[in-house]
Amino acid sequence: MVAEIIINRLAKDLNRIFDYLVPDSMVKTIKVGARVFVPFGSKNSPTEAFVIGLKNVSEFANKYILKIEDFPLTEENIELAKLMSRRYFCNISECIKLMLPPGEKTTNLENRIKDKTANFVYLKKEDDEIELDIEIGKIKNSKHIKILRFLEENNGIHIADLEMFLEVARATVKTLEKNGYIEIIEQKIERNPFKNRKIERDKPLQLTEEQQIAFNKINNSGFNEFLIYGVTGSGKTEVYLQLIQSTLNKGKKAIVLVPEISLTPQMVDRFSRRFGNCICVLHSKLSIGERNDQWKNIKTGKCRIVIGARSAIFAPIDDLGIIIIDEEHDISYKSDMSPRFNAKEIARYIAKKHEIPLVLGSATPDISTYYNAKNIIKLTKRANNSNLPEVEVVDLRKELANGNRSILSERLKEEIAKNLENKKQTILFLNRRGFSTFVMCRDCGYTVKCKRCNISLTYHSKENKLKCHYCGYEMNNITICPKCKSKNIKHFGSGTQKLEEVIHSLYPQATTIRMDIDTVSRKNSHEQILNRFKDEKIDILIGTQMIVKGHHFPNVTLVGVIAADASLNAEDFRANEKTFDLLVQVAGRAGREKLPGKVIIQTYSTENFCIECSKKQNYDEFYKTEIEIRKQLKYPPFCDIIMFGINSSDKEEIEQASNKLYKILKKHGQEQMQIMPPLPAPIDKIKYRYRWRIIAKCKLNSKIITIINDALDEYYKQKFKKTRVIVDVNPNNMS
Ligand code: ADP
Ligand code: ZN
Ligand code: ZN
Repeated sequence: MVAEIIINRLAKDLNRIFDYLVPDSMVKTIKVGARVFVPFGSKNSPTEAFVIGLKNVSEFANKYILKIEDFPLTEENIELAKLMSRRYFCNISECIKLMLPPGEKTTNLENRIKDKTANFVYLKKEDDEIELDIEIGKIKNSKHIKILRFLEENNGIHIADLEMFLEVARATVKTLEKNGYIEIIEQKIERNPFKNRKIERDKPLQLTEEQQIAFNKINNSGFNEFLIYGVTGSGKTEVYLQLIQSTLNKGKKAIVLVPEISLTPQMVDRFSRRFGNCICVLHSKLSIGERNDQWKNIKTGKCRIVIGARSAIFAPIDDLGIIIIDEEHDISYKSDMSPRFNAKEIARYIAKKHEIPLVLGSATPDISTYYNAKNIIKLTKRANNSNLPEVEVVDLRKELANGNRSILSERLKEEIAKNLENKKQTILFLNRRGFSTFVMCRDCGYTVKCKRCNISLTYHSKENKLKCHYCGYEMNNITICPKCKSKNIKHFGSGTQKLEEVIHSLYPQATTIRMDIDTVSRKNSHEQILNRFKDEKIDILIGTQMIVKGHHFPNVTLVGVIAADASLNAEDFRANEKTFDLLVQVAGRAGREKLPGKVIIQTYSTENFCIECSKKQNYDEFYKTEIEIRKQLKYPPFCDIIMFGINSSDKEEIEQASNKLYKILKKHGQEQMQIMPPLPAPIDKIKYRYRWRIIAKCKLNSKIITIINDALDEYYKQKFKKTRVIVDVNPNNMS
């Protein structure tokens, strides 16, 4: 017997099947999905691999499998991994990784639950910074490299786990701490996010007529895809809950995907109240041990409802009866890292395979989802009868003409003052962190850029530093121009720190809290800031898009959007859609309950249809205009945009590699794709790596997928050593 195996490594040239002989002693036990060790490489050293196929003979097999380790994967997993590898242009082993139990060697964790606190290890530097230090030989010790690379994927691991996994001594870990690469932090252990939380159970609500119609259509439908399109508060979640109840009643299980950022305790509590402890939660902020616990609970059947961010679609759940994707328009369902999978596509595949319903829900559906949807179910009324807030648009050009150079318009100032007087809360939204967005010499025009990236540095007033938002590089603020020695240095653009300062000077009595990447760091603190805002009745919450989702603040009656244009000008086919979603979502934070809400949107482009439609909170009108634009420009859903991102540490090699790839793509797919010649990317250097790209347009189908895979195979034979290629279809970010 012969096994087809995949070596568990990420190198591009190892993404192929190797044939190995199965010794007689293993013939009875070996299965597709088994983890094995095989002799591999010039030294024939035992190497981890996965069995992805079995057959009787092979002319290539001449070595025997050494050992069967365990059976972590099903045949279905392997089939999906193979498909994904072709569709997302990555290695099968990368896809398999998503389906493996997290940190499966963690054995003695149970004992540690008794401890109240433990030491957890966190990286202090960015992944690429570390990779760079490895590349230039600043880190040489192979154990150090092993630890750092492991932490890149398992940041925040229990120190004892780290030592056990990697077989390293405490002293080795401590050296890395001393050298400033990691920090060891004592933290409370919260193995079970629900333990010790007393939750009152609730009962299903009497559905409204609209909800009942939605429920009836979906329940018992077999394989079918539905889009529930309903404003926030229209009772979508209640429909999900009752569909899940009906699924459980039939002895089946459910997966519910939500955007990572809306996976708040409030949201989870709502499921706990209805279903008790048969739910489990999977997301990236959990420790490796917590995730492992959850994985086990799913496997043993203790957990029957999985709630999680995009990777939860790979949870090892059997007897699946329904998949629900809430806020389906959220771009976090598509991964930005390899494998660049889209959880909606995976969900469709699984739903079809299991012949079960897939339910997508949103108040502002993804343009492509809406266009392609066959079963749209509308919920038009708010279930609790609260009203949508009143939205007012302020023209910043007029403010300037009237001599107001502040980032706050007169109207917004007035309303903030009124709200403070009435002891009501305010949210101010500005999607730029830091103090000022760039720093320039007035005399010679010099702008301070990151030495690693081709990007202007942002001034952060609190630390008096200039920071790069792409790579984390920091330098001291400058007061003298490095080029012409002028002292005439000027700061342009405003970020959340400046906004906070302006608020303090205008309203010295107001209490404020700021939420952006700079204030949110470790586990939970996102949650802590929002809770403080809510519980301590802080007057004003200032933040980036982190503040937009999920939370319910009954006392917030005013929402101000400082610069609605910021996301409009982006070179991105989703720019309009992203702007509209964001504005509708932000507006949705105001007046969620009894109190009426007011929203003030400040903008330089009052006539832009995204702004107009968000003022009216009218998705239908937005959709009608946007879909026409997409059609004319040949953007999704009419065409797919395939981005070949090329990055390299070598300025010459990247140009050669890009031109080579372009030539190969032309050779394979000239007729089927419209391929644009290679060009440097809009941001042409990040973290010392140069960036080019090739953009192709066509409708992605299995033929095109084959063409691209063939072209990539040919390209990889060229061995451009310092250059990497990624392929991203309809990328979240085009910069
Ligand atoms: P969505 O998910 O669309 O935002 P929710 O399901 O969260 O809407 O419902 C919004 C509010 O209305 C919640 O407080 C919920 O408890 C309430 N609600 C939902 N359905 C009903 C119903 N059938 N009867 C009474 N209240 C309802
Ligand atoms: Zn100068
Ligand atoms: Zn940088």
